[in-house]
Amino acid sequence: MKTSVNSFKSTCCYCGVGCGVVVHKENNGRLTLEGDVTHPSNKGMLCSKGMNLHYTVMDQSDRLLFPQMRLSRSMPMQRTSWDEALERTAAVFKALIRKFGPDSVAFYVSGQCLTEEYYLVNKLIKGFIGSNNMDTNSRLCMSSAVVGYKLSLGEDSVPVCYDDMEEADVFYVTGANPAWCHPVLWRRIEAHKAANPDVKIICADPRRTDTARSADLHLAINPGTDIVLNNAIGRLLIEKNYIDSDFIENHTNGFDSFQAKVFERTTEESAAICGIAASDIELAADWIGKSTGFLSLWTMGLNQSVIGVNKNLSLINLHLITGRIGTPGNGPFSLTGQPNAMGGRETGGLANILPAHREVTNPAHREEMETFWNSPVKIADKPGLTATEMFDALADGRLKAIWIINTNPLVSMPDLNMAEKALKNARFVVVQDVSNRADTVAYADVVLPAAAWLEKEGTMTNAERRITHLPKVLDAPGEALPDAEIIWRFAEKMGFGNEFNYNNPSQVYDEYVKVTAGTNVDVSGVSYDLLREQRSVQWPFKGRKEEGGKEDLASAEFYDSTGTKRLFADWRFFTADKRAQIFGVADENTSEPVDPDFPLVLTTGRIRDQWHTMTKTGRVAKLNQHIPQPFLQINPQDAQMRNISDGQLVTVLGRRGEVRVKAQVTEDVKPGLCFMPMHWGKILGSSLNRANNLTNTLVDPKSKEPDFKFSAVEVVAYQKP
Ligand code: SF4
Repeated sequence: MKTSVNSFKSTCCYCGVGCGVVVHKENNGRLTLEGDVTHPSNKGMLCSKGMNLHYTVMDQSDRLLFPQMRLSRSMPMQRTSWDEALERTAAVFKALIRKFGPDSVAFYVSGQCLTEEYYLVNKLIKGFIGSNNMDTNSRLCMSSAVVGYKLSLGEDSVPVCYDDMEEADVFYVTGANPAWCHPVLWRRIEAHKAANPDVKIICADPRRTDTARSADLHLAINPGTDIVLNNAIGRLLIEKNYIDSDFIENHTNGFDSFQAKVFERTTEESAAICGIAASDIELAADWIGKSTGFLSLWTMGLNQSVIGVNKNLSLINLHLITGRIGTPGNGPFSLTGQPNAMGGRETGGLANILPAHREVTNPAHREEMETFWNSPVKIADKPGLTATEMFDALADGRLKAIWIINTNPLVSMPDLNMAEKALKNARFVVVQDVSNRADTVAYADVVLPAAAWLEKEGTMTNAERRITHLPKVLDAPGEALPDAEIIWRFAEKMGFGNEFNYNNPSQVYDEYVKVTAGTNVDVSGVSYDLLREQRSVQWPFKGRKEEGGKEDLASAEFYDSTGTKRLFADWRFFTADKRAQIFGVADENTSEPVDPDFPLVLTTGRIRDQWHTMTKTGRVAKLNQHIPQPFLQINPQDAQMRNISDGQLVTVLGRRGEVRVKAQVTEDVKPGLCFMPMHWGKILGSSLNRANNLTNTLVDPKSKEPDFKFSAVEVVAYQKP
């Protein structure tokens, strides 16, 4: 690794793996970048996206450089000053709040926001405006896991760490493709398997992904049958006496109802519903039952579902009946898709929570935060609008104004035709972003230019609860400002200057960590100085032992100078009675039905070299070479029935819209299933590239996460009009 006075340690701002990077700034301003060999998450490794990260800040061609606004949507955007842009926005917000109440405005933020930014937006709208209308695009990817953890373990708490990748001997990867979407973590698993040939990888996925290809056992289940599979494995674990009766007896509740539920179906019935062999389910149960380290990994295949919470619970159940949690190599591990999805949750960046996992429905929690913030208003006692609810409310006029920060909902939301109508219908739209690539810019009344990665300072938390500090390395171009500064300047224009009197993000961070004291996410002993010195810590972290810090919550055995590696080492969970909850989970899928008009199921996902809506990765020529265009995977049987050949242009029709892409005829998807990547917006000049034209706004009733993985469609060969 090269080092020089112009080298800076930072963290990759793409996926939740949170790899450490070293950025070298040369005298001519040129940047180079390499993996940080001292970072415990990636040990020097980077994937293709991470290796090309610096190009996203070196290319300034599409950057937003100045605040802009217009008095009506029919007028062109005009350059303005920061004061004018923020004063007008504050005037509009105040007028709407006065006339329609605080719930007439909303903030929609992003898992790419830094912890300090999340905290400030949360403080502003919940503690000062008096509405809980703040939600994040993490609602679209992680909220089912949040609720699953809370219901089963008592809190939104990832129990494991990346070092468990080298401790496990059975990996159950379900509804995830880490080979493409969390590549550095996957490389750690592959290296572990190469060194230990007895290690087994089970992959449950309707698609034959690169992860599935590398697995020892691919369970190519039918879409929506994840719970049936997990319940069937649970039944076999009981029948074959692989369960841990002492753990169940002493550390859990709910086993009896679980047992009754999983015995409702025979293994053969479950296998038929899943579309796989009963012997394969038996093999998976045997490997899990005999393992000494059972690690399950999942992402959107479980979460992005109308039954996403139940899918999570059905998986966590397998750890709780076998006692495979809290010990090295054991535990349920939800992989986060975004770099700071975890930090957002810690600071209360969802419509139903407050900082440090407090809840808006808990009167004591509200009072604590009102006192801490010196709030001039009462915090609302009901959850605010979630991501999809915000767009519904814009469409029907209940919500008047939305402020969108660093996210691109006109590519990532379900049912994009509806989302587009909703933004058109909004009275006032503020878009705060780095580049004009965000499709939302076209609908904005005010555009605020934000500083990009390396141009601002702050912290993020990765998927293993690891907090890192990101230094400012470059000046932002033009008049772009760090997101935190934009929010505290706006709060001052709203009349809240006394409580938003910050000069730098470390003041915001210091305030945030104070409010975590005594909670399960306690980081009250963590400062920027400590993070700079130690590189990272894992929460909870109450200060260094040698400095008289408090004992680690989980167990002194697992305490070290960088925080808590593994939660629940003492098998005392965050529930009131300290017992984990096992659930008997119903296995019916309630997604929209297929029918003769729309007989195929569409599932959406990601490709290796693009990230989310391509506003960053789409600017990097090398990354665009991997797969330059959107496509639809369709099974040869389905293609033949429709006279569709490989590479042919097809129209995919759904109940809400259509897309037009080239067909990729492949056995990688089962008959009856199609797959399309979700990354493309209007970037290639057409809205017909957008997979989310076809998805629907059905959401899980508890997590409010959309059902992206199951939409009824038909595919026809494209006919020129
Ligand atoms: Fe960045 Fe994720 Fe790749 Fe690591 S694995 S380099 S965090 S995109």
